Formats: sequence, C-alpha cells, structure tokens
Amino acid sequence: MVKISFTVAAAILSLSSSLSLVSAHSHGHTHLDKRAGPTCPQQYTPVEKGKYPTIDCVPFTQDPQVQEWLKLVDLSKAPVFPPSNEGVCPNPTSSLPKEQCWWTCQKCEASDDITTCPTPGTWGLTYDDGPSPDSPRLYDNLLAHNQKATLFIVGSRAISYPATLKRAYDEGHHIAIHTWSHHSMTSLTNEQIVAELKWTEKAIFDVIGVTPLYWRPPFGDIDARVRNIATQLGLKTSIWTQGFDTNDWNIPGGTATPQSVVDTFKTWLTKIPSLSTGFIVLQHDLFAQEVDVALNGVLPVAYETKSLVMQPIAQCLNDGKPYREGAGTFKLSGSSGNETSANNRNSHPNNANGLIINPAALPKTQAVLVAGSVILLSSLFTI
Ligand SMILES: [Zn+2]
Repeated sequence: MVKISFTVAAAILSLSSSLSLVSAHSHGHTHLDKRAGPTCPQQYTPVEKGKYPTIDCVPFTQDPQVQEWLKLVDLSKAPVFPPSNEGVCPNPTSSLPKEQCWWTCQKCEASDDITTCPTPGTWGLTYDDGPSPDSPRLYDNLLAHNQKATLFIVGSRAISYPATLKRAYDEGHHIAIHTWSHHSMTSLTNEQIVAELKWTEKAIFDVIGVTPLYWRPPFGDIDARVRNIATQLGLKTSIWTQGFDTNDWNIPGGTATPQSVVDTFKTWLTKIPSLSTGFIVLQHDLFAQEVDVALNGVLPVAYETKSLVMQPIAQCLNDGKPYREGAGTFKLSGSSGNETSANNRNSHPNNANGLIINPAALPKTQAVLVAGSVILLSSLFTI
C-alpha cells in the first residue's frame, strides 16, 4: 500500500504541475507525460544500429536514421503554423486561422480525419497507450468474446513489451500507431513529427513484421501541419468522435471513478438510435484502473447491448488492408455493421483457430493494483 500511495501521489504531483494543460485538453488525456523530463538526454548521441531512441523522449532529428526518413517527405508542402506550447489552446481560440483546423482547439475535422464508423449502431472499439503489463487481461477478455479492437501502440511501450504486442497482433487485433513518446504533436517541429511516427512504425514492424497505416495523435492534438506530414508518410489519421471520451484516463489521477466512466458510457447507449453514424470511443490500456473499468464496467454492459456492434476501426470502415503489406493477421469479417458479423460480441465464443475459450477459466480481474502495475505506474507518467 505504501508503494501504491507513493505512486498515486507522484502521479498527482505530476498532474498538478500540469493543471493548465489539463484544462486545455478536455477532449484528450491529461498531460502526465515526462515532457523533456530530467531523464531525457539533452545532448544528442546517435541511436546505435538495432537500437531505439530513449523511451518516452522525443527522438533527436539529427540522427542518420531520421535524416533518411526525412527524405520521404517534402516538408515545404506542410502548412506553416508555429508549434504550439505543449498543445495548449491559445485564448481566445478565435485568433487561430480557420485553415489551421486544430482538432482540440478549434474542434475542426479535416475531410479525411476518421472520427466515426459509418454504420449507425457501430462502435469503433479502440484502446490507446499500450502495450502494458495490464494489456493481457484486456486481450484475454476480448479473445473470450471473439472481439477485435484497434490498438493504438506507443513505440516506447512496443519495445518495452514486445511479446504483448506480438500476442495482440497474432490474435487479429488491428495494430496502429500512437507515436514514440506520446507528446502533443502540434508542439513539435516538422522533423520531430516525422521522427515520432517513423520510429514507432519501425518499432512495431520489428515486432510484428507489418507496417500500420493508421495512427492516432496523442490527446487528439492535430492540426493541418501535423496532418499534412502524417499523410505524406502514408498514414490515415484516426481520432475519436467528439464527446465520446470515456475519461478512463482520469481514474488514475483521481478525477474520474469507474462508476462515472460506466455512467458516461451508458448515456451514449441511449443516444445510439438518434445518431446518423456509428461512433469511435477513446479508451486506454496503460494503467490497471483503465483495464479494470473496461473489464468490470464498460465491456460487460456493451456485450449485453444487442443494438451495439463493436468493431475495430479497419473493420467498421470495411478496410481489409490496414497495413502497408496488406491484411496481415487482420481478417475483415462479414459486411460492415452487420450485427451477425463474426466480430460481434459474445455470440461467437470461438477464436480464429476454432479453439473454444471458456471465459470462466480466464484469470479473474484484479480489483487492486498488482505489483507489476505499481512498477509501471512508478516508472511512467504517460497517459
Ligand atoms: Zn494516448
């Protein structure tokens, strides 16, 4: 308990030092990240062959590998907007040029932003910030229900837990990019944005052998400049439906409870019949509490809601090739939004190999923080 108290206190300390940022991110996560923290090297050293940049730190752009990647883009084509101050919106936001189309600050969506699933009643199921020591508990549950999700992977987590990422891929989840160090993309230079995306792409490729074509900016923080660079790199920008944030990321910081998250989720269920499209929800699998609320709160309700079809984003968009190399392990099943789809809920308890999974045989969800989570919380302040 002492360890847990220390950890929570540390998280709150980090949170309180970023309060101005929290208020600016009503549509994103809290800034618990160690932005240019003391553990990030200030002086450039090249990344050794076969190695990666320092985890949770913005990679150096003078690295020869990054210089190679920069040849893939024409940064003169990127619209010029000054990097933001850690993603914080200026006051008033009306001072921003319309063409900047900054999602968090101007609530602006570009025509090619993916923010909904087309078919009404379809929930684009996504989990961000993993893989973590708690991800396997989530994967166990999804496997037991033959349920696939889109997993937005942080590069620093991918190299920390490669076996977990490999498992997710092998089980047919849709693997996507969530940057290397989980910083606000609008706060970075053009070159840093390239480095964040390409190092993550490489880290994921090195583990699963395919290159994701979808990415999600941390905190939903994206404007026309960031979009242009991501698009030049061949990435599809997938955010979430405005207002469909479970706030599960606020449980570790103490400003949301499992009950409030489930209550929020239930209010959306009542909206389903009135929506003209499906929706994409923001959820996470970094912290134990986030996985706990998914397993004990949100997913059980969702599985029981017969009017709801949960699908990974590639599935709801009817995209059978979510990787540069093609389908990989991802299987497009049924027609998009069809409630009888094999991706649907608990009606198909077999996994892709035909193996019968007995949910009762799976490990019980831990109601308290386990040792591994404490270590994770102590070593990371990224949400
Ligand atoms: Zn995130």
